[in-house]
Amino acid sequence: MKKEEKMKWGEHSAIFRRAVKMLFRLDRAFALCTIFNAFFGSVIQYVPIYFSAKLIDAIWTGAAKREIFFYIALTVGLTFLLNLLLTLCRVVENIKIANLYRESEWMYSKKEMEMEYSCIERREIVLLLERSRMESQTGYNLYYLYTSVRMLVQYITVIAASISLTASFFGVKAVPGSMKLALVAGLLATVLYGIYSTAKEEAINQEFWKQCVNLNILAEKYGICISDYSMGMDIRLYGMDEKIAGESLKTDMEFYGDYIKKDRKRLFLSIPSVVLSHLLRFGVYMILIMAVMKGTVSVGSIAKYVACIMLLLDAVSGLVSTFQRVFANNYYLKRFFSYFDIKNSMYQGSLTVEKRLDNEYYVEFKDVSFRYPDTQEYALNHVNVKFKVGEKLAVVGMNGSGKTTFIKLLCRLYDPTEGEILLNGVDIRKYDYDEYMSIFSVVFQDFTLFSFTVGQNVAAAKEYDRERARKVLERAGFGERLATMSAGTDTYLYKDYSEQGVEISGGEAQKIALARALYKDAPFIVLDEPTAALDPVSEYEVYSKFNELSGERTAIYISHRLASCRFCDNIVVFDAGRIVQYGTHKALLEEEGGKYHELWNAQAQYYVSGKEERAQSAQ
Ligand code: ADP
Repeated sequence: MKKEEKMKWGEHSAIFRRAVKMLFRLDRAFALCTIFNAFFGSVIQYVPIYFSAKLIDAIWTGAAKREIFFYIALTVGLTFLLNLLLTLCRVVENIKIANLYRESEWMYSKKEMEMEYSCIERREIVLLLERSRMESQTGYNLYYLYTSVRMLVQYITVIAASISLTASFFGVKAVPGSMKLALVAGLLATVLYGIYSTAKEEAINQEFWKQCVNLNILAEKYGICISDYSMGMDIRLYGMDEKIAGESLKTDMEFYGDYIKKDRKRLFLSIPSVVLSHLLRFGVYMILIMAVMKGTVSVGSIAKYVACIMLLLDAVSGLVSTFQRVFANNYYLKRFFSYFDIKNSMYQGSLTVEKRLDNEYYVEFKDVSFRYPDTQEYALNHVNVKFKVGEKLAVVGMNGSGKTTFIKLLCRLYDPTEGEILLNGVDIRKYDYDEYMSIFSVVFQDFTLFSFTVGQNVAAAKEYDRERARKVLERAGFGERLATMSAGTDTYLYKDYSEQGVEISGGEAQKIALARALYKDAPFIVLDEPTAALDPVSEYEVYSKFNELSGERTAIYISHRLASCRFCDNIVVFDAGRIVQYGTHKALLEEEGGKYHELWNAQAQYYVSGKEERAQSAQ
């Protein structure tokens, strides 16, 4: 992996401020609650320290019983009440955390859905998302952010409170200056070692968690292989279980191995810290006891000063480690924000698609060339074609010749690398994206059906018109199968969301996808190899009903089976990303030596030889 560039102070501060603003935007109440709890929780610790000192002094000086009981009641009662309140606030904070994570998950989902199509398959973006998500799950980004905010507030409060409660010690005249100096030196040494060891420990932690992200990504991939039932068949047939389980176990063992190594290193670093802080505690006790014996410091103050100094020490090293955590997390937040900052260039247009009563729309590809993201080869090369709405257009060519790419560009799943596509003379990029997309009903070869109900799949919506869904399913040839489904259009597909969900064949799925295109009722209907998974009878039905299915709409029909394209008004022939012929079936067939003629003859030959074979086997 590339080494990260070191960030400057300004950048650290800008990222942290942006992240804190995001925290407030995601859940303002949670952010406020966290800050309040951190402050309140820190201040509460000083209540028993302060009042216990008063209580001990009262006992030591032989104060009246009433006064002693008053301090006992105050120490215990106040601590109890404040802790009760703090517990309640923490419960609220914990409840709110769930909402914070839900909001942040939704942030990812929303971004993924809003991302332009060409981005979701760009390798660097896929990796960026995968990394950022896994880093968030590992604790970076949001979790480290809000824990850092909480700790910053907590440690700063503790430092301020401890300093204000111990300041009076330095004013005690009876304690010699050399002792005060020794105490300050001891404090400094402990704090400095604390800073050093915390820095080291945090660096070890960060290195470990960084490594963890890689292992987590791997583990998740193996986990998907194991749990995704669609892979279950191949795993069993090819005996891949041992390989997958072995790799998965290896990843786990690597994780635990690293974990143990990390803790061992941390242990050695923390021992001197423990020794130093106890030496300091011992020194503080000695100095204070001497002062008490001289009668210049009250007995109660010993407990107060010792407790405050120890809290101060913890808070200083805590503050250092929190700063380190903030700095480390900023690198992750930078990556996190870089994903959310990816712009969607598809949404730059604003024109509305003209609703023409005369239906006189035309589409023109003007010298369009296109390369897929991260590739060098052009999938389309200088494509020029113009067709009218209402026309039935067939797009033919060998596999890989650019037919699907042509449609993807027409539907604005991608924008051309060069050239332009015009709708009624206007570059399609100038139209409002959502409105432009709404004029296409497309069934791609690799369409997706979701594990929702049949009707929801057809309508592509939660609520839908059942009668209309049933009719289009029948028109797409799914009527008989629908009749066997007990819940009709409300029958769930697959078992992900319902135990009663049904499995369907590839051909049935294709019919549902076709019904989805019909339900949308858009002015353009595009079918990319719509019969590939259908049996011959269903295939014949789709061909023969194609004109009826598409009605007045512009229909674009992609197929490599030329026999099925004859009924189209015009045929576009693709070869190696270029349009090599355009015309009617009759005209193209007459162009001897043309690609269409060649393809037609190749397929006819295939059928002829097939017949001959059958004839021979029948003899
Ligand atoms: P056809 O529909 O005629 O079979 P396609 O339009 O799917 O052909 O493919 C045209 C060319 O573009 C092929 O060389 C194919 O490998 C390439 N291609 C298709 N989809 C992608 C993609 N998502 N990324 C990179 N290359 C692609």
